[in-house]
Amino acid sequence: MFEDLIKTLGNLNGRSVSVNIEADEKGYLDKQCPAENCEFLFKVNDEDWKNIFTDESVWCPMCRHEAPSKQWFTVEQVKHLKSEALTVVKGEINNALRSGAQKFNQRQPRNSFISMSMEVKGGVKRTYTLPAKAAEVMQLEIQCESCSSRFAVIGSAYFCPACGVNSVVRTFDDSLRKIRAKKDSEDVVRSALTEALGRDEAELTCRSLRETCLTDGVTAFQKYCEGLYEGYGKPPFNAFQRIEEGSNLWKVALGDGYEKWLSSSELNELKIQYQKRHLLAHQEGIVDERYVKNSGDVSYKVGQRLVVATGDVEALLMLLGKLGQGLKVACGRA
Ligand SMILES: [Zn+2]
Ligand SMILES: [Zn+2]
Repeated sequence: MFEDLIKTLGNLNGRSVSVNIEADEKGYLDKQCPAENCEFLFKVNDEDWKNIFTDESVWCPMCRHEAPSKQWFTVEQVKHLKSEALTVVKGEINNALRSGAQKFNQRQPRNSFISMSMEVKGGVKRTYTLPAKAAEVMQLEIQCESCSSRFAVIGSAYFCPACGVNSVVRTFDDSLRKIRAKKDSEDVVRSALTEALGRDEAELTCRSLRETCLTDGVTAFQKYCEGLYEGYGKPPFNAFQRIEEGSNLWKVALGDGYEKWLSSSELNELKIQYQKRHLLAHQEGIVDERYVKNSGDVSYKVGQRLVVATGDVEALLMLLGKLGQGLKVACGRA
């Protein structure tokens, strides 16, 4: 009576179930970083995954974790695969029970005194898997400058998943974008925090958020310069944190300093923003003699507390963007 079932169970031993993974409407496959503390979700172009990526190594665009290509399935895809495998196994067992019952019923002699019949009700009949659907498309599509593979992320990314390279140009653009987003979201943050914590906390947080924009900008530009400068030698420690020193290094390397890309009033404005960052980082924002002398900013007296306005952040972003663009072209990285 259960021959079919026993045969099916025998066949299930070592049976493999495969599931297709669909690309999204733009032709991108979902991937997820297997590092437990990261689990960054991203997408890779389906064609490039076949042609450019290698089986040995794939890198996480966010944390640069390195692992063989078969380890990058997303949690969702694995969940889907497990449930599909279970469905298929259940379907096969169920179908074996049905056909067993059918054979049993056929074997019953007609017109016998007692008639017995068996029926298998309900259960799964499907013995094939459904493909794993792709997650929503990601807006930010990136093409690696060195291996030309295409991938997509939400927010930002530092490393190419196919070759692991870190693009200084892209990282810098991302950082400026991130700072701009931080500045632009101030009103939303303020109203959410006012509701949750009250006006004092909200104002305090927003002010400190604005101040970090200056720090972030200066750091991003420093890293950018250090990256671009790699082919020209080793700069002194933190040299690119200081405008004059940085400009002089470029003058030696490229023949041009910052005055090539910024007017003298722009350069002065940049100096003021850099000095403000310095005060925030080292003097808790309290104006000292050094600030007044180095920045040429006459709007403050010694002992006052700096006020960082949205305009300061906007000015810094504009100036760093302009300078960054100029350096990129001059270094042949555009
Ligand atoms: Zn990662
Ligand atoms: Zn690459």
